[in-house]
Amino acid sequence: MANPIPVAKNDQIDVTFSDLTQDGSAVAKVNGYTLFVPGGLPGEKAKIHVLKTKKSYGYGRILELTQVSGSRVDPPCPFYDTCGGCHIQHISSAGQLAYKREMVKNALERIGGFTDIAVNETLGMDEPWRYRNKIQVPFALQNGHPVFGFYKKRSHQIVDMDHCIITDPIIDKVVQKARQIAEEKGIAPYDEVRNRGVLRHIMARIGSRTGEVMVVFVTRTRDLPFRKVFIRELTQAFPQIKSIVQNVNRKKTNAILGDETKTLWGRDVIYDKIGEVTFSISARSFFQINPVQTELLYGKALEYAGLTGKETVIDAYCGIGTISLFLAKQAKKVYGVEIVPEAIEDARQNAALNKITNAQFEAGKAEDVIPKWRQQGIQPDVIIVDPPRKGCDASLIDTMIDMRPERIVYVSCNPATLARDLKLLTGGGYGVKKVQPVDMFPQTTHIETVALQQRNL
Ligand code: SAH
Repeated sequence: MANPIPVAKNDQIDVTFSDLTQDGSAVAKVNGYTLFVPGGLPGEKAKIHVLKTKKSYGYGRILELTQVSGSRVDPPCPFYDTCGGCHIQHISSAGQLAYKREMVKNALERIGGFTDIAVNETLGMDEPWRYRNKIQVPFALQNGHPVFGFYKKRSHQIVDMDHCIITDPIIDKVVQKARQIAEEKGIAPYDEVRNRGVLRHIMARIGSRTGEVMVVFVTRTRDLPFRKVFIRELTQAFPQIKSIVQNVNRKKTNAILGDETKTLWGRDVIYDKIGEVTFSISARSFFQINPVQTELLYGKALEYAGLTGKETVIDAYCGIGTISLFLAKQAKKVYGVEIVPEAIEDARQNAALNKITNAQFEAGKAEDVIPKWRQQGIQPDVIIVDPPRKGCDASLIDTMIDMRPERIVYVSCNPATLARDLKLLTGGGYGVKKVQPVDMFPQTTHIETVALQQRNL
């Protein structure tokens, strides 16, 4: 028999918070039973109201903090309580970096069984605000009114808002200007219930090193009414704008972009740089959201790869080839593989744009393409992986072990799957040498880590 649940709905109890979860909720243990409480911080004590109990865990709400953590700060954003974008604005910058390092350490210990690995201090930003180079804001009909803002926490409701302090200030203003024109001209916001209306999203992105801005209007209709007014007023107000694009999405779907894209003004793309490499970015291209920290992260990956110019490198899960191209000058040859064919086209174009001739890209699953390369006799000295949250496919780990590269550099956006995969690599004859968390998304609980594995003889 499992222990009875020690608390009931509507109880008011005193608790001490011990941990933070991936979504920034605090954890309180009551006789071994777990309660998740948004807004609490480890070490704090509070009186809470129990909202809901399930078999093995429940939820609570803070009524009163009775002991306050030294890491607690006032969240500067006025929309923080409702908007779902940020999770940990109530933690100081130093506290956030410590929290991220702790999350990596805990995962390595609990999931990987690693007790003696030194995890470096998280590399943060001096100014952990205004870093996002892309903003996409829904314009929607909600309860009969037009709203322009961000989604609420765990909901499809929109919080109307007029600025975002983690977004680059120029594109933050660009989307507000576009919104103002849309409202002045009475352009119908998208009505997702009836799949009616005109304007669904306004998106803007900036090349942070070049300063170039792209604006994207996502419409349900083929036409964007007052197109010329938008173009004139936006380009006059923001000389940084180099491209204005319309994307048509006629479907009743949560996906933001549709299949049809046309350039209304200026170029089809904007440019940005990471390290010495120039990237062309179209409305549909994936591009890292925080390029300053991306450069730091890839710098670490490059350092861990230990390249001298003679090495053959495989970049698995290569996206638009950002890491491959960043490393190519330091390697003999780089092979990149990625599942999305359009991303591979971008990677090839970016290689050509930068006159990089020693990088070769193939579309497909890493776990299918890399064994094929192995059969073709490709022998990597270094393998870099940067998988999505679910981590590497188990068969890819086996293939990597069989290929016996000197070093494996693992770039991870999820400490849990990183720990799982490092454990497998350790079983296959690799030792974990370095673990470096990098704060790519300040104010959120997202954690990026780069880890170096070296083959044991
Ligand atoms: N390294 C890239 C992007 C990494 S994100 C960069 O820094 O820009 C992870 C990438 O893995 C995504 O582009 C996703 O499309 C791709 N992906 C997901 N599953 C994959 C698989 N099984 N094989 C290859 N690529 C995959």
